[in-house]
Amino acid sequence: ARNIVKIYQNGSEKLKVLDDVSMQILEGDFIVILGPSGSGKSTLMNLLGCLDLPTSGQYYLDGLDVLKAKDNQLAEIRNQKIGFVFQKFNLLPRLTAIQNVMLPLLYRGAKEEEAKESAKEKLKLLGLGERLNHRPNELSGGQQQRVAIARAIVGNPHLVLADEPTGNLDSKSSKDAMEIFKELNRQGNTIVIITHDIEVAEQVKKVIYIRDGRIYDKN
Ligand code: ATP
Ligand code: MG
Repeated sequence: ARNIVKIYQNGSEKLKVLDDVSMQILEGDFIVILGPSGSGKSTLMNLLGCLDLPTSGQYYLDGLDVLKAKDNQLAEIRNQKIGFVFQKFNLLPRLTAIQNVMLPLLYRGAKEEEAKESAKEKLKLLGLGERLNHRPNELSGGQQQRVAIARAIVGNPHLVLADEPTGNLDSKSSKDAMEIFKELNRQGNTIVIITHDIEVAEQVKKVIYIRDGRIYDKN
């Protein structure tokens, strides 16, 4: 991503939320993007995940020029290559935990039975083996968050973009979730975690610091 600017326009009001953001994420990286509330993290995740486009700047994902790509190319990338954990989970309320986790696999054309098996395995890994058939509103916030993590990783995506994935978890569940991301990373998947939690950032080598829409440090 190079010189990314994002301006939100609400009526006549313009708000510059990302200002000249440049970063490089390499295959196999485990990166934390750390910044306070309102600094533009979720906006940045939407751009990195091709859910939204920058106002200006350049963004290449796996060699594809995202600003010039067609909608169906972007949809294909999202479905095939990226697993999302949304800050607000975005679980489908009418579907059970296991049905939510099956979705990315079904989108890719997996058979129902196979999708079910994989979804079950991931939910068990996240400690939700007893909650497979609960709907989101029958689950606690932390349980919903773990369903969201299971859904993000079930398809073994190239790139996992996780927005505050541990924000609703107690410290034990938070550690467990980080271990799962680390294990995925050891297997070669690229992980980007977005957080305001310094303890999460302390666990990784590459941290990108963002404040008021600008990157002010990288290591
Ligand atoms: P948090 O840690 O609280 O989740 P964040 O770093 O993820 O915050 P963003 O959600 O990216 O921050 O928001 C950055 C700024 O952009 C905020 O001032 C927010 O009010 C504004 N903003 C976000 N989405 C929109 C939108 N769709 N339209 C207008 N302004 C927006
Ligand atoms: Mg956010």
